[in-house]
Amino acid sequence: MRKKIVAGNWKMNLDYQTGVSLFSEIVNMVKDEVIGQQEVVVCSPAVHLYSLGQLAHSATNVSIGAQNIYQAESGAFTGEISASQVKSVGADYVILGHSERRAYFGETDEVLAEKTNVALKHQLTPIFCIGETKEERESGQFFDVIKSQLEKGLFHLSESDFTKIVLAYEPVWAIGTGLTASPEQAQEVHAFIRETLANQYNQALADSTSILYGGSCNPTNAPDLFSQPDIDGGLIGGASLKSRDFTDIVKVFNS
Ligand code: PEP
Repeated sequence: MRKKIVAGNWKMNLDYQTGVSLFSEIVNMVKDEVIGQQEVVVCSPAVHLYSLGQLAHSATNVSIGAQNIYQAESGAFTGEISASQVKSVGADYVILGHSERRAYFGETDEVLAEKTNVALKHQLTPIFCIGETKEERESGQFFDVIKSQLEKGLFHLSESDFTKIVLAYEPVWAIGTGLTASPEQAQEVHAFIRETLANQYNQALADSTSILYGGSCNPTNAPDLFSQPDIDGGLIGGASLKSRDFTDIVKVFNS
């Protein structure tokens, strides 16, 4: 049984006080909603993490994550945050390879492979994002793009390390745009990702890897998306900033 995950990505939003109160609301609202193998994750800005970690202690199945780490262990990297620092405040997850980091901060597949290694070394679960741009979709290259992101970012991992990865398929054209991949478009890519994992590793690993969908997911479109056989939850940007919307997405697995 694959783990079902709904993960929020707050991006660079919410001051400290607002973030802590939103997280408290989420913890209270989802506490009776999270079932079985389901997990809720909130990936906040780094300044919130310690306090959210304290609040998360009292919550069942609500975890916290960072939105980035640096690839080195420690040292003279002014302004960066390490995997061990993130882990030490109670985070269990880290988003890696988000398209905003790839596009605005020049993160390459090679850097992302290094970040993945350091995350795993410090027992952080990467939520590893892959996805094509609008041009790549329109020119029909999207399967090649996704396969290449997997190969260069992740396929150096041993089978046992790969089992610690969560994937997020996030078509860049759907992120923050209000455009959503249709359930059929998303399912087609998720099935392709799973087939690519089966070819590289084996069917059991492919079947047990959680693959989330991300891109303008909201309480209205989540039920159709999450009912697709290869979609195991969502990475949620805008809708994770409202406790009601985020909780309603979490509840989709209960309805
Ligand atoms: C994201 O940032 O990962 C994301 C999916 O954003 P949004 O839900 O706002 O499209």
